[in-house]
Amino acid sequence: MGKYVYSFSEGSREMTDVLGVKGANLADMTNIGLPVPFGFTVTTGACNRFYEEDLQIAGDIREEITEKLEDLENVTEKRFGDPSAPLLLSVRAGAPVTMPGMMDTMLNIGINDEITEALAKMTGSERFAYDTYCRFIKSYGTIVMGLPKSRFDLVQAAKRFNEGLEDDEEFTVDQLKSLAASYKNTVEQLSGESFPQDPEKQLMDAISAVFLSWNGERAVLYRKLNDIPDNMGTAVSVQSMVFGNMGEDSCTGVAFTRNPSTGENSIFGEILLKAQGAEMVAGLRTPDNISTMSDLFPECFETFVKIARLLEKQDKDMQNVEFTVEKNRLYILQARPGERTAQAAVRIAVEMVEEGLISKEEAVLRQDTSQMGQLLHRGFDPEKYKEAEVLATGLPASPGAASGRIYFTAAEAEEAAKNGYEVLLIRQETSLEDLAGMVAAEGILTAKGGTTSHAAMVARGIGKCCVAGCDSLDIDEEKRIVEIEGEVFEEGDFLSIDGSTGKILRGKIDTVSPELSDEFSMLMEWADDFRTIKIRANADNPREARQALAFGAEGIGLCRTEHMFFMEERIPVVRRMILAATDGERRRALAELMPFQKTDFKRIFETMGERPVTIRLLDPPLHEFLPQTADDIEEIAEQYGMTYEEFEDKVKNIREINPMLGRRGCRLAITHPEIIEMQVRAIVTAVIEVKREKKFDIMPEIMIPLISSDRELRLVKRYVTETARRVMEEEETEIEYRIGTMIEVPRACLTADKLAEEAEFFSFGTNDLTQMTYGFSRDDTGHLIQQYEGQGVLPADPFHSLDMDGVGRLIEIVAKNGRHTRSNLRLGMCGEQAGEPATIEFCHHVGMDYVSCSPFRIPMARIASAQAALRGEADL
Ligand code: ADP
Ligand code: MG
Ligand code: MG
Repeated sequence: MGKYVYSFSEGSREMTDVLGVKGANLADMTNIGLPVPFGFTVTTGACNRFYEEDLQIAGDIREEITEKLEDLENVTEKRFGDPSAPLLLSVRAGAPVTMPGMMDTMLNIGINDEITEALAKMTGSERFAYDTYCRFIKSYGTIVMGLPKSRFDLVQAAKRFNEGLEDDEEFTVDQLKSLAASYKNTVEQLSGESFPQDPEKQLMDAISAVFLSWNGERAVLYRKLNDIPDNMGTAVSVQSMVFGNMGEDSCTGVAFTRNPSTGENSIFGEILLKAQGAEMVAGLRTPDNISTMSDLFPECFETFVKIARLLEKQDKDMQNVEFTVEKNRLYILQARPGERTAQAAVRIAVEMVEEGLISKEEAVLRQDTSQMGQLLHRGFDPEKYKEAEVLATGLPASPGAASGRIYFTAAEAEEAAKNGYEVLLIRQETSLEDLAGMVAAEGILTAKGGTTSHAAMVARGIGKCCVAGCDSLDIDEEKRIVEIEGEVFEEGDFLSIDGSTGKILRGKIDTVSPELSDEFSMLMEWADDFRTIKIRANADNPREARQALAFGAEGIGLCRTEHMFFMEERIPVVRRMILAATDGERRRALAELMPFQKTDFKRIFETMGERPVTIRLLDPPLHEFLPQTADDIEEIAEQYGMTYEEFEDKVKNIREINPMLGRRGCRLAITHPEIIEMQVRAIVTAVIEVKREKKFDIMPEIMIPLISSDRELRLVKRYVTETARRVMEEEETEIEYRIGTMIEVPRACLTADKLAEEAEFFSFGTNDLTQMTYGFSRDDTGHLIQQYEGQGVLPADPFHSLDMDGVGRLIEIVAKNGRHTRSNLRLGMCGEQAGEPATIEFCHHVGMDYVSCSPFRIPMARIASAQAALRGEADL
């Protein structure tokens, strides 16, 4: 027959499966000699038996409980149910994984009419005795009998009202006595049963109630959401009570061994005088800062500080500690690793390494990469944020916090920002033309589009906060108003957005800027030592390149050239190039663009020094550069001296129904080789000039997008090499460069062995690759994907975290077959997913040379890749 009950002194910290996290922790703390009220733990196995035996505690288990209760009586020198030396108990739930607040805990078990009287005599405090009795009747009535708590609250409130009191603390002893009687009446009226005076029954009922709460609605839902198996069961710890409500020299408290928001190494917490645990959590009374404890109970506080250190040493982590002071004596009731902000996590880990508590590896492994965005972006002032009103919620598209006056067009946003306003740009969705307005704005809010929409990608790239795809926005661009859940906001009104949660909030909320601490740099250095994969940035201009370097990028993995086409003085030339009637006309326009491109590249090379820079040749369909609205068309038609109809016809000719599957990427290069000839000329000249001026040894990587066959690649490559040769001859010098291709089309994946004959590197463009593998249009299917996720058809948004089963499989094929052809083929990933920890781990395992992500993701990527390497080592 199995063993179902363990005294705290029989357990250990390794026994969480059997004793639950709390039971194992209580055992552990008992064994290292901390002042823990003694008790025993009924195992998770007993919980499963409880369900097997029709919700009964089996006879043999009851016997074991009785035995351990006797031991407990001997240790405490008190007797359960004996008025001459009453022992009261707490019954505490604790599963093998933490399920905070999901199950019930009951205090003060074993009290009845007679024992209340006895307690009053013994402690000399009737107030304490009746306060405790009242608490117990109420919790027995609600937790065990399932009566509505509101009825007890009502009785209490009525009493307060009748006596003309403001506060429960003002109850006199007589009033408490009568409250206890009223509570007992309430139990009888509501349930038809009288409140049980038998302590034994109270105890078994309480244990059963905890077992039952394992299958309570809250707990079941929580397990489902967190993938916790239902048959794990909860353990129940039965512990002798200590009383924080015993008088002026008693309190209950919760503390962190270090500050959970800054990481500072000093005790942080709160106490509640004359109270018991649950009140603290319920937040009914305002607690005092823990410094009060050092004033009122200096010795207890001193002991507490020592214990905090000991617990940290034992667990090698910052602890959250629940404790009680009874008559100036300290008792520890629970300790577990405490939750913390990203800032605190960094500081605590680094300081613990310095203190010799943990290794550098451990410090890196402990970082929660999903939280790290918090470190780099502005956040709301936490105090102000607490009081803020949420108006609606969209998709959290780019983290950070922003407050500003709302504007509905990029031009007006830019104008307002120039006039010194903080601006929030609101758009139906954004396009290339909105870039300047987005740069000028504090944050971007859109009604359409998902987390890989233009708005989201650009916002992440430039480090702006963005909430996308908020259905509740009804935008009227003409009237310059937006309606949110029936309320109208006008141009110039203040709104705030939280890009980490997707919340849209009323009015202006102060923001605070992040500070990158020394600890942060230290941790990053350690991570760099552990990782094997390189981290590059997606950066299109010198500003982004500088940002990327500041965050530790080792190169640029994707420099998109189309953004450079979109500046004010260039766009007319670009349009002339696109609309050119003859090749000659086109070449003239391109010749005008060449110096612009050359200067762009020079600046980037100068910024990046000798680090690798991958430049992608022009990718988007040409019509993206053409005017979209009727007004724009009219204006430009005029410039060209054409009628509206003539011009519109021209635009129509260029437009495509499925532009994403149309004439873009290398297809553009094949139909208009002169475009990429201009670009290659700009790249090669830039390299030559920077080499001459700065003596940098630069080897650019020229990347051809959207390749689907080796013939395509061979042809485009010939354009590139011929142009490069011509420029080098003109300049009478030689440079080295690499030519590679993006892998974005499934056909390219399947023919990777042939492509590797031509390409020196492959870069996985996982946005397009996902789009084409799934056949999901990334510009249109945001909401569909949300619905798919909601119904469990998709485990996650594949544009956000790489679809390992499909897209990931293709990548593996490419890596294997590509390297079979060319063993030193360089592999990298530059899609959005490359900024996501699980994808980085995947890339590490596939053996990629680098991942390339937006500058603001780089610190996270450095940590995630180090974690992947460390975990990989551990697996070997
Ligand atoms: P939770 O898992 O919800 O934190 P606990 O079992 O830790 O539930 O109990 C909540 C609180 O109840 C504790 O923080 C403590 O203040 C109080 N408590 C639990 N057991 C005892 C005890 N033996 N004596 C005094 N207070 C207790
Ligand atoms: Mg607790
Ligand atoms: Mg692409």
